[in-house]
Amino acid sequence: KRFEDCGFAPELMRAIAKQGYEKPTTIQCQSLPIVLSGRDVIGIAKTGSGKTASFVLPMIVHIMDQPELQKEEGPIGVICAPTRELVHQIFLEAKKFAKAYGIRASAVYGGMSKLDQFKELKAGCEIVVATPGRLIDMLKMKALTMMRATFLVLDEADRMFDLGFEPQIRSIVGQIRPDRQTLLFSATMPRKVEKLAREVLSDPIRVTV
Ligand code: AMP
Repeated sequence: KRFEDCGFAPELMRAIAKQGYEKPTTIQCQSLPIVLSGRDVIGIAKTGSGKTASFVLPMIVHIMDQPELQKEEGPIGVICAPTRELVHQIFLEAKKFAKAYGIRASAVYGGMSKLDQFKELKAGCEIVVATPGRLIDMLKMKALTMMRATFLVLDEADRMFDLGFEPQIRSIVGQIRPDRQTLLFSATMPRKVEKLAREVLSDPIRVTV
């Protein structure tokens, strides 16, 4: 499999080449075509597999595919991850590819000044990468609206559950329109995560690496 077969625009192909990504990793080969087709996906994969690009690249395509939404406010793509380190890593990966299109990404996590984060979100973004607790705080402060969000990623869902984020995740999912595309990544699938996946994904395809 090759990135050329994914139908990516030349700008995105250049950004991929610039990263030195010559060919898709196993999880990318398996999930990119499914995610690009608009289906929900459960990805059983660990960090190091290249899972981040397998949701970031289709998220960029998804955002570019809806220019009529550009007028409204709030992120189109929402990514939840368990820790600030992971949020930061995903944010950096998203920025590499978003830059080529002028798509704005924001990272939201505990430990940073709420006021600074509020101001940054108020300035607007198309992609938000967040820990669940801080994202809830920002939603309560009306720093952002989920009106425009149509692409949701729950990354390392098992770790988010271990850290007690289940109520926050459910609250966030409840604020995003039900006709969204949803992806859930997890290294393991404990019963509670399986139950959440059944409730928040529609007819998902399961990909295991
Ligand atoms: P991840 O599992 O998403 O954290 O990615 C692990 C590392 O692999 C990161 O440093 C990525 O930048 C890198 N990576 C992701 N996809 C590819 C690819 N197709 N070819 C080479 N490196 C990649």
